[in-house]
Amino acid sequence: MTSFSLRQVRLRSGEQYRDEQEVALEPLELGGQRYIPVPEKVRADFTISRASTGSVFDLRFRGRLHGPCQRCLADAVVEKGISAREYQATSPDSEEMRSPYVEDDRLDLGAWARDALALALPAQILCRPECAGLCPVCGRDLNVEPHEHDEQQADPRWDALAELRDRL
Ligand SMILES: [Zn+2]
Ligand SMILES: [Zn+2]
Repeated sequence: MTSFSLRQVRLRSGEQYRDEQEVALEPLELGGQRYIPVPEKVRADFTISRASTGSVFDLRFRGRLHGPCQRCLADAVVEKGISAREYQATSPDSEEMRSPYVEDDRLDLGAWARDALALALPAQILCRPECAGLCPVCGRDLNVEPHEHDEQQADPRWDALAELRDRL
């Protein structure tokens, strides 16, 4: 878990703090599959901008995940440039004015980076955009062996039924 102590930075309104932070990313669970960040630690541009009413946090990094293709289960890689922003009011009146990643003057960079990356991911992680997936009939990889099944040949029992019907 990577966190940043906000006590170490004292800013007046209009001032900005900028630093590069090393953030440890956590594996993500998506659709029952596990996606591993490679590398696990990324360099992130981190900025705190102080406004009169609170602080704006900006985080930018490139995240890369390795895991199974959601169509054919082969290795897939997804890489995203992330740009995330959080706001924390100086004297928060409502929950909306607080960042969920700030607690006891610490900003949880690890959880924030993980969530920002998860939100940026495509609806389906694929090994390639045109992945053909697995055959729904026999389960073989359609990328390796493109094929179709003739319905009559798919199951010999249908032939038996057809024969029976002809005799009736
Ligand atoms: Zn695939
Ligand atoms: Zn098949």
